[in-house]
Amino acid sequence: MRESRAGTPTELLATWEAGLAQHGPGRALLLHRAARPAAGTDELLSVPVGEREADLLRLRRSLFGDRMQVLIECERCGEAMEFDLDAGELAPAPQGRPGPLRVESDGWEVEFRLPTVADLVAVGDAAAAGGGRAMLLDRCTVSAVRAGDPVPAGQLPAPVQQRMADAVARADAAADVTLDVRCPECGEGTRAELDIASYLWSELDAWARDLLLDVHLLAGAYGWSEPEILALSPLRRRYYLELCADG
Ligand SMILES: [Zn+2]
Repeated sequence: MRESRAGTPTELLATWEAGLAQHGPGRALLLHRAARPAAGTDELLSVPVGEREADLLRLRRSLFGDRMQVLIECERCGEAMEFDLDAGELAPAPQGRPGPLRVESDGWEVEFRLPTVADLVAVGDAAAAGGGRAMLLDRCTVSAVRAGDPVPAGQLPAPVQQRMADAVARADAAADVTLDVRCPECGEGTRAELDIASYLWSELDAWARDLLLDVHLLAGAYGWSEPEILALSPLRRRYYLELCADG
């Protein structure tokens, strides 16, 4: 890990420790808080999904650098494909949050907003049961009118829903980082979405376990306390560990 302003080792260990008791959305929220320490929980939940992804990518770059190794299995033959991504190229330039989005089609007028992190959390369970899309549509529709009469979001026809989804994808492009990889063995193309929150969580988890092992070894060798060891720069920790190994 780089020396960075994204958090001291002690703060990041606290984030990791809290995340051990959580699952996907809870871990993503903890990581987002590490990326934006000044923001309160309500503020973090109210940002559009793409903005959260951009925040997490920025945190990832400041902690672990730009190079990301990704492992994907071919959908057809199962071949493991490993390749490098440049996080700097994935992170889109921040754009201001758009106002309400509108779709007008076949006599329908729909006003809606981008899905936020809170929306994703709310539909999480429904999504597992197959009703996620309908619930998300309902939450994000501000008003739906046909020929002057208000209509519930649940009655929007599929073509209108598709146009809404397209508008969201254009306005919040960072929400979905999709990778398209061609298998070197069988030639099949595999599409996979990069889940930056779980990717970053795995990295933080590995980093934390390595660091605690370092603490264990150095405390045993020198009798230093955990805060003393965490206060060392990574370079000095590494050097003392080498000396222990040589001894
Ligand atoms: Zn293949």
